[in-house]
Amino acid sequence: MTVDTLPSITSSLSPDEREWQLIIDAVDPRIRLIVAKTVEERAPEGVEFFYTTLLNHPEASPFLSNQIVNDHLHSALLKWCLSLFSALAPDLSSLIATQRRIGLVHARIRVPLHVVMHGARLLKSTLRQSLFDSALSSKDLSTAINYVENMMDLAIETMSREFVRDLQKEIETDEAYRLITLGQDVTLEREVQRAALLDWGHKILLSICCNAPPPLPLLESSGFGLWLNHKGSLLFPNTSGIEHIRTAIRRIDHVLVPSLALETPPAATRIHELQAQIEEIRFLMDDLFKESEALESGRDPLTCTLNRRFLPTIMAREVAQSIRRQVPFSILMIDIDHFKAINDRYGHTGGDAVLRQVAEKLVASCRTSDFIFRYGGEEFLVALVETDAQRAFQVAENIRENITQISTQPTGSTSSVTASIGVAHFEGHPDYTHLIEDADRALYYAKARGRNCTVIATPNLDSLPRY
Ligand code: GH3
Ligand code: MG
Ligand code: MG
Repeated sequence: MTVDTLPSITSSLSPDEREWQLIIDAVDPRIRLIVAKTVEERAPEGVEFFYTTLLNHPEASPFLSNQIVNDHLHSALLKWCLSLFSALAPDLSSLIATQRRIGLVHARIRVPLHVVMHGARLLKSTLRQSLFDSALSSKDLSTAINYVENMMDLAIETMSREFVRDLQKEIETDEAYRLITLGQDVTLEREVQRAALLDWGHKILLSICCNAPPPLPLLESSGFGLWLNHKGSLLFPNTSGIEHIRTAIRRIDHVLVPSLALETPPAATRIHELQAQIEEIRFLMDDLFKESEALESGRDPLTCTLNRRFLPTIMAREVAQSIRRQVPFSILMIDIDHFKAINDRYGHTGGDAVLRQVAEKLVASCRTSDFIFRYGGEEFLVALVETDAQRAFQVAENIRENITQISTQPTGSTSSVTASIGVAHFEGHPDYTHLIEDADRALYYAKARGRNCTVIATPNLDSLPRY
């Protein structure tokens, strides 16, 4: 590669890819090959050192002490080292995607960032020592060490960025959930904020018309402005509506009101413009509330069970609690059998009525401390806190029994509504998606067994015929 072709190649890369490319390009392929060989030879020992050291780390051990993690982590970590220090030119986008994926898993299992960095430091020190032991010249040695450290640091940086982004999202959802569980009435919130906005509008018009001395009150500092910046952005995270409202507020505070304050008497057209802008904010705010209808109660409007968007928050919490307090935890995946046929027979409205009744049966069969989610169309996920597999099976059977009592006709006659249930018991893997996959697998087997039955997820499920 000639020097003048380099910019055109690197300029086609994304900024992230360019960072990786710069580190790789700074090292002679000969040295990269030596590093790759060293990693191949010494990484297993580094991984072992990483694992045994972190198992004695009080904050890391809860994430690592499980057998599944142990089995999985060794090979995953080794593979990660090998892919990071491949002698061949790596596919940058997949290299970056891998680091991001790892960052997301770390966020999901809530492993503290400093524990990840501690682990990286252990690996770096093993590799550094391995390079010292090799027969490299001092110049090559320093290039190789630089290369290893830069690659590791950039990998951890990429993971951390994803980790923080995901955690931020999680915190916002947590907060929205907290507001809901605290019983805050979002409809009331909307009315209060509407009133606060109108109140500011009246005050500012009065101040302008009465030639009140400056400074005139800013909308941004009003009750409404404060709510928008602090609570509104929590209630409606990642929505463009908030940004549009902020733009409108800036225009009012910094363009419309100052120019009106300078005019005596104020021009009617400008006053209309101000009123129109306030009205616009009101519309935007209504849209925000409408858009997040589910947020209004945090519940699915049809069945009143919890909205699925809270699933990651709750599952991560419960799994973390189960590890910390050493209490059992189980989930149920419930799917109504042949629901399409119910819809075909009783119409969509009849189907909806069945869904509502199933949800009622779930609520009646669970404790108030359990969480009931609408997982999909005719699928529910129930998180049974502090419940072992045996008890979870009993709860599932009770639910299944109760569902068969549902009536689909106005006369109250008993129909053939049935459900299949998969039960999974928390086995210690800090990533809750494994638990959901287990329950899903058990549900498939329940369907395969002929439906209207409960199956507990066990390792030997894989040997059973699949649905
Ligand atoms: P299986 O026993 O294998 O689960 O069969 P099934 O018919 O229940 O499963 P399938 O996934 O084939 O069909 C699910 C149906 O649920 C299809 C969809 O139209 C219906 N459905 C999804 N959401 C709703 C809803 O909110 N209301 C109503 N009435 N029907 C819904
Ligand atoms: Mg289904
Ligand atoms: Mg179904």
